[in-house]
Amino acid sequence: MKLKKYLERVTVGSELVMACNPSCPECRQPAGEMHAFGCGCEECPGCRKILIGCHCNCLSPADSAKIIKALHDQFTDVTDAAEVVTAAGDEPGLDASYLIHAAMQYLYENVAEALRADLNRGFQESHPDLVPLLQDETGHGYYTAEQLSVALQIPLIEVHEKIDAMVAAGQGIRFGNHRLQKVN
Ligand SMILES: [Zn+2]
Ligand SMILES: [Zn+2]
Repeated sequence: MKLKKYLERVTVGSELVMACNPSCPECRQPAGEMHAFGCGCEECPGCRKILIGCHCNCLSPADSAKIIKALHDQFTDVTDAAEVVTAAGDEPGLDASYLIHAAMQYLYENVAEALRADLNRGFQESHPDLVPLLQDETGHGYYTAEQLSVALQIPLIEVHEKIDAMVAAGQGIRFGNHRLQKVN
């Protein structure tokens, strides 16, 4: 496996293409500081386009996870999240952007049970290598926490936290956590 070299985030005012001086018009951070996580004015250190929408995924997993979480927390309804995912359409060979990851994550947590099966199918189509490893007695496939961690590019510990939180909230979930979680 080839190890990927992660790039440092671009601070406010040190952009090569996008211009955020003397402060960021969106997150209001002053020049020299990091943008707020998830800021739409942060420049990608790889392609120099908007970081949250590009396909580089070139930041460290820790930075990536924080950006995805910040974006995720900005979603307030599933329609918006679905629109983001739909608008992205098919981009074969491209990694999903941070925004797409966040929208997918939000959808997973918030869509009604009936919709979730469709979403699972779409998810399988966009991640053809990803086959549900677990199955319940009705034949429904479940993803493991490890699979979700890789596919959504969020740390495994965060997947487990989400699963625990959802189980605690009694929501029931459609993916597995090594143990098979029942859907309510
Ligand atoms: Zn900003
Ligand atoms: Zn980029």
